Amino acid sequence: MTHLTTFDSLGLSASSLAALARAGYERPTPIQQKAIPPALAGRDLVGCAATGTGKTAAFLLPIIERLDGKKGTRALVLAPTRELATQIAEHLEMFGRSRNVRGAVVIGGVGMQPQVRELREGHEVIVATPGRLVDHLERGTARLTGIEILVLDEADRMLDMGFKPQLEKILAKLPKQRQTMLFSATMAGEVASFTARHLRSPEKVEIARSGTIPERAEQRVFLLPQQEKAALLLALLAESKDSTLIFTRTRRRADRLYQVIARAGHEVARIHADRSQGQRRMALDGFKDGKYRILVATDIAARGIDVEEIGHVVNFDLPHVPEDYVHRVGRTARAAASGRASSFCSPDERDQLRDIEKFTRLPITVAEVPRESAVFREVVARRVDAPPPGRTYRRQGGSAHRHQKSPGSGGGARSGSTQRSSSQRPAQRASQGKTAETSSGPPRRVGSWKPRRPR
Ligand code: AMP
Repeated sequence: MTHLTTFDSLGLSASSLAALARAGYERPTPIQQKAIPPALAGRDLVGCAATGTGKTAAFLLPIIERLDGKKGTRALVLAPTRELATQIAEHLEMFGRSRNVRGAVVIGGVGMQPQVRELREGHEVIVATPGRLVDHLERGTARLTGIEILVLDEADRMLDMGFKPQLEKILAKLPKQRQTMLFSATMAGEVASFTARHLRSPEKVEIARSGTIPERAEQRVFLLPQQEKAALLLALLAESKDSTLIFTRTRRRADRLYQVIARAGHEVARIHADRSQGQRRMALDGFKDGKYRILVATDIAARGIDVEEIGHVVNFDLPHVPEDYVHRVGRTARAAASGRASSFCSPDERDQLRDIEKFTRLPITVAEVPRESAVFREVVARRVDAPPPGRTYRRQGGSAHRHQKSPGSGGGARSGSTQRSSSQRPAQRASQGKTAETSSGPPRRVGSWKPRRPR
């Protein structure tokens, strides 16, 4: 098939074509071209497709077509993260509303009761993360005996995240006679054996070789010492107005980098597993609607972030797993847009860079560190080291409240308002209940900070 294939040649109904037109989808992406016909025919399917390829519509449209007019819960979509599950449910709402195909979202981090109600109402599709669905199964509040279609989205990540026992429990409750569609960025290792056990003569649809990144993404790597990373980042952020998604290796590093960026006066949010569901939602929504130009994230939390037009992905830390590089860079240059990916590689990350290049089978262009840039020089000149890790945070009512850093640091991202006395002790400042999201104050000093060794 060529890129000129149209949606109406794939066997979709007029209602689906109208929904696609409303969504602004003009032509099917390669995964949609290849997966929709066998999925509509009820065949088992393995879709090996990098993220951002349009796989959500590739499985949702056939589900909607096959369930149209039927009552009762007949399809189950499993996804590794709450964010991805929520986004799948949003797509389902967009395509299924006019067809009376509704979704019940069953994810952790929120109350059980509303989910119990939705499950009882018998929505046609359950979109779930495995852990929470197992909770419902154990309480007897979910029944899967009517399921005819199962989708395992980002199966590689579900297995990586240790969801195998939950997946096995769920699969044991499903009717043997069903259609199963499994999507994964890679088909290596566990995914292959899982597929062999649970799918029946699946149609294999491979869009991009494992380790392929969107062709439109422009990739570059900066080779530099750890302590220059913050200066480089702030220089790049000052250089363009692109929406920017920044990845760090750990939650702690995400928190600390968030502070550095906020103090430089940027609108920034963060998302990682220690943030509550509400905080994660707010960060994502704010990033989506442009309130925050910058989002700092860890890999797990960023899975499934579906934001159009992310102009720039920054790997502040290189990932340890090369597949994560592909997932991260796949966040830019989504279905129609083009984008940039900048990776920061310190001397102790050279092996990771080599592994990534081996995996993607492409050398990444080395870019020059803009040491002459005014921002870079200023940050390096003002260099302050990070405070001892244990003093940065304490827990308050379930959310992390920021203690301000050393004198001269701290304060908020936003302009205006009076500067707090830098002589206040961290505990005093924290007791005022300010976080970087809520406090205001002039941009403060920023500086490089040293990494802590991975634990
Ligand atoms: P996905 O890989 O399903 O997460 O899709 C990535 C992004 O591409 C989402 O924002 C979709 O809404 C969008 N998308 C998917 N298919 C198409 C299409 N055929 N035309 C335009 N945009 C699409």
